[in-house]
Amino acid sequence: MSIERNRTALSIEKEHTRELTVMKFGGASLENAAAISHAALLVRNEYRWGRPTVLVLSAMRNVTDMLEKLCESTEPFEDLMEKHNAVLRSLNLSDAQKFLVQQELNSTYHEAIRNALLAQRYGVENPTTALEYRDRVLSCGERLVVRLFTAALRANDVPAQTIDSSEIIQTDNTFGEAIPDLQTSFNRTVKKINPLIQQIIVPVITGFVGSTVDGRITTLGRNTSDYSATLIGRFLGAKQIILWKEVNGLYDKNPNAYEDALFIDEATFKKVAEMNSKVIHKKAFEPLYKTDIVVFIKNVKNPNGIGTKLTDEPSGSITLFQLKQRMQETGGVPRVWRIYKADLF
Ligand code: ASP
Ligand code: MG
Repeated sequence: MSIERNRTALSIEKEHTRELTVMKFGGASLENAAAISHAALLVRNEYRWGRPTVLVLSAMRNVTDMLEKLCESTEPFEDLMEKHNAVLRSLNLSDAQKFLVQQELNSTYHEAIRNALLAQRYGVENPTTALEYRDRVLSCGERLVVRLFTAALRANDVPAQTIDSSEIIQTDNTFGEAIPDLQTSFNRTVKKINPLIQQIIVPVITGFVGSTVDGRITTLGRNTSDYSATLIGRFLGAKQIILWKEVNGLYDKNPNAYEDALFIDEATFKKVAEMNSKVIHKKAFEPLYKTDIVVFIKNVKNPNGIGTKLTDEPSGSITLFQLKQRMQETGGVPRVWRIYKADLF
């Protein structure tokens, strides 16, 4: 490591807990080669500004569903392999680099198929064991995409390292809906991830996945990669967590179905958890209460939009609930609504 890089690393060591951003990309934001390279450019931007960033990813769109089907029947596996191989082919890497990543993908494909066969075999006589094999299969979606994303970052000259969250998130053995052990997971996350941040390497971590005390892979429940991101953000003392989605932020109801849906520019974790929004898993708020971590829900296709800002306590600016109250009082359309309506259509 050069002296210059060392020096920067030292100053980041002091600063990083205050400055750290955790970014989570969902399956829709990673649906194909173009989406992945777009997401990688967003990360490169952060890196170039010298902002310490940790990534948490969920599987490519539909992949977890495909893996679920693979456990139940004989879902053809070729589509799933091609989905990932196509991303690899698109990356600006040497043949030798591609070969190495392809090897990693291949061994994960084999693992998925082998465990899916075991899940099917145990399905009838021993459903508990089948669930365990099923978790190993489902975890493959995240484990494939982090390898591709790490390669995409490296292709963009961003030093990055793949992390399987089974190494850091320890859970009980409720396969399919495992509950993290917070203390052990905290210790492991800090020990594993902080040195990477200090060396200015971007960790690319699987969401959704953990492992039991004796190292068997678990999953935290469908759609829990937001939860993985908030857990990791909490453990690392992140300043902010950006949940990249395909929508501008949260609305009080579905903006595609209701013309009068209101954009939520800012709200508390508690209020949004009560809304039971489809955009963000309820569990994701658990690690955030009583912290000053700020969560932004932003549109990956509109990265400069302000998104929805979520905090434990309301800050000075207007919340959805104040906004509604104001509308009722005045019968008028508040400014924030006009701004976001324009943004939407
Ligand atoms: N890939 C997992 C699922 O589809 C986790 C997630 O997307 O949040 O359930
Ligand atoms: Mg998913």
